[in-house]
Amino acid sequence: VLGLPVPSDGFPPRQNIPGGPARPAATVHGYPRQGPRRELKKAVERYWSGRLTADALRDVCAALRRDVWRELADAGVREVPSGDFSLYDHVLDTLVMTGAVPHRHRAAVEADALDGYFAMARGTQEAPPLEMTKWFDTNYHYLVPELGPDTVFRTDSGKPVGEYTEARALGHDARPVLVGPVTFLLLAKPAPGADPDFEPLTLLDRLLPVYAEVLADLRAAGAGWVQLDEPALVQDQPPAVLNAAARAYRELGALADRPRLLVASYFDRLGDALPVLAQSPVEGLALDFTGPAAANLDALAANGGLPGKRLVAGVVDGRNVWINDLERSLSTLATLLGLAGRVDVAASCSLLHVPLDASVERDVDPQVARWLAFARQKTAEVVTLAHGLGAGADAIAPQLAANRAARASRSGSALTRDPAVRARSAAVTPADAARTQPYAERAAAQRARLRLPLLPTTTIGSFPQTAALRTARADLRAGRIDRAAYDARMSAEIRDVIAFQEDAGLDVLVHGEPERNDMVQYFAEQLTGYLATRHGWVQSYGTRYVRPPILAGDVSRPEPMTLRWTRYAQSLTGRPVKGMLTGPVTMLAWSFVRDDQPLADTARQVALALRDEVADLEDAGTAVIQVDEPALRESLPLREADRGAYLEWATEAFRLTTGGVRADTQIHTHMCYAEFGEILSAIESLDADVISLEAARSHMRVAEELADADYPREVGPGVYDIHSPRVPDQGELVALLYTGLRALPADRLWANPDCGLKTRTWPEVRESLRHLTQAAREVRAKL
Ligand code: GLN
Ligand code: ZN
Repeated sequence: VLGLPVPSDGFPPRQNIPGGPARPAATVHGYPRQGPRRELKKAVERYWSGRLTADALRDVCAALRRDVWRELADAGVREVPSGDFSLYDHVLDTLVMTGAVPHRHRAAVEADALDGYFAMARGTQEAPPLEMTKWFDTNYHYLVPELGPDTVFRTDSGKPVGEYTEARALGHDARPVLVGPVTFLLLAKPAPGADPDFEPLTLLDRLLPVYAEVLADLRAAGAGWVQLDEPALVQDQPPAVLNAAARAYRELGALADRPRLLVASYFDRLGDALPVLAQSPVEGLALDFTGPAAANLDALAANGGLPGKRLVAGVVDGRNVWINDLERSLSTLATLLGLAGRVDVAASCSLLHVPLDASVERDVDPQVARWLAFARQKTAEVVTLAHGLGAGADAIAPQLAANRAARASRSGSALTRDPAVRARSAAVTPADAARTQPYAERAAAQRARLRLPLLPTTTIGSFPQTAALRTARADLRAGRIDRAAYDARMSAEIRDVIAFQEDAGLDVLVHGEPERNDMVQYFAEQLTGYLATRHGWVQSYGTRYVRPPILAGDVSRPEPMTLRWTRYAQSLTGRPVKGMLTGPVTMLAWSFVRDDQPLADTARQVALALRDEVADLEDAGTAVIQVDEPALRESLPLREADRGAYLEWATEAFRLTTGGVRADTQIHTHMCYAEFGEILSAIESLDADVISLEAARSHMRVAEELADADYPREVGPGVYDIHSPRVPDQGELVALLYTGLRALPADRLWANPDCGLKTRTWPEVRESLRHLTQAAREVRAKL
């Protein structure tokens, strides 16, 4: 397959590139924005606190862009992206480009563009920020544009043109990258005051002239190609959306003076949108060929390819942290050569979703480090593949050999293959993933053991993570205190948390999670198979970066993880203390996962490790165990067709975690949201005895929906909104409990907050929880 002749692409020679069109180019859709030492985060935060001027902030940003372009060019990327940089969020940048500033922020934006930009992102005393939500199925969050029937668009091509011009002045052949018009509208929500059923996509005809103008401005500045990102088209879209996409690209394609257009999709396959884009008059498509998007390959062949068009082939996974299988990618690329006028090589999506550089991870075992590829390493892979595609596999023989050896060391490693873990996983039977008794019997046994009042009160797990707790952790890390001193501080905190809960009259207590830095990292640090990075930051939103752990190998639990703290907490009180674990799906969702085995297999291994923890807790006398799965819904595959299989293994993993307990051990689960419509039957099949959900902001609608669906088990719809510093008064909590009681019988309703209390302060928590127990008592007395 390798070494096929490279067809001439039928395009006029690329500007600035001597040697003409024959060589496939390497490119990327975007690159980490933060800088090697998170310079962007630091500069923006210093600007916010008044310690950096706007000009100085602009200088930092320009230097970061300059360094990225130079780094990419030095690595051999011939067409660098521009405009992918962002001070906060690329969807917010697109909103600015279209002039669709919400009413409430207009004054701020007019007074000062930069401060107005941050006002939309973070809110001000007078005007709340834009809502934030997940960018497709990644852990990046974007700001949601608000559009209504009277939205007026106004072109502001300052950023795209400015950054393109900057790259060009530095001598780069840059390709401006913009969020495409269809995706921009599909990501928006109805503006406050507009009809809640208003569909922003109906604004397409008004929006297209903005894009036309931006394209003309970019063309005038010298841009040869412009990339329009349309990831929304990899979701199941109705004909109306596909028609809108067809219209958008027909119209933009028909513009007289414009750059060549590259429409990019990523995160999944294009499906029905593929022929729509293939038949549009754009000059190129960028497609993802990794994971479920690998189906793009057959679809492309079945559709007759992209004759005369440019294909930017995303064969290097832009979302995981693993080295590519270069031979397999090269063979995919060779197939693609026959399907398009010209083939270039890229990562599947922006490299924004991976950390910058694996080579700075000095703590990772060198044996393992050679399997890792972050943004820099992925860029090098893309360059190697482009070279191999153009010059033949022989030209990259050393890289192929090194890649083969690294992959072999991975598949043969004791870390990735622990025979004991594999044997145990293979021996799992359906019975392991099922409680022995039906719910009704369990409920009776639990009632007899726990003797809880009606409307039992509890919390979701964490109590305030105070500065003192964080300092203790930092002190331990820096060696300023030893483990014993640290443990003593945690024990003291647990004593306080238990004493407070007894005093406030809560029925099912928690230890408060003071020892947890993060609900995933805490467990990842204690499980075999997980790696931690020191510098592996990725942007979560704005200036918030996270360092997700890496699931690298087979998972096992060498020692109990939570037992001693739960046991200690229980020793302080006669009331039941809830054991508290993070569920297997969430342990995967907020980590980088393996790409060398199905997710279902990894989930099962994590579940078995957690199952041991559950068993230890139960043996120690823990009568109530909560397994949090806030990520169950967000991990849903983008395409409906893939969801059944996902929910199957995801719920099995939960049941495998919890299925081994006795009838009188009560299993709780927790999810942080109220919109569970499409996963309702999955929630049922978790078979948890009690579920707590978000409800305060939606006025207990969850309770009604669960009742309508005949949900048979106990429910704790959160009555106290922990996302706000506001202390709810007893009266409103009573009212919410009555709303809950109209939907659910009194013996199946719990009284609890929406979520964990770690982000709140003690004064708020003290007062709120006292109101909660008083409200429950007041309602109980009248039942
Ligand atoms: N038990 C966790 C806590 O209370 C749950 C957090 C979550 O749902 N995100 O903090
Ligand atoms: Zn939650």
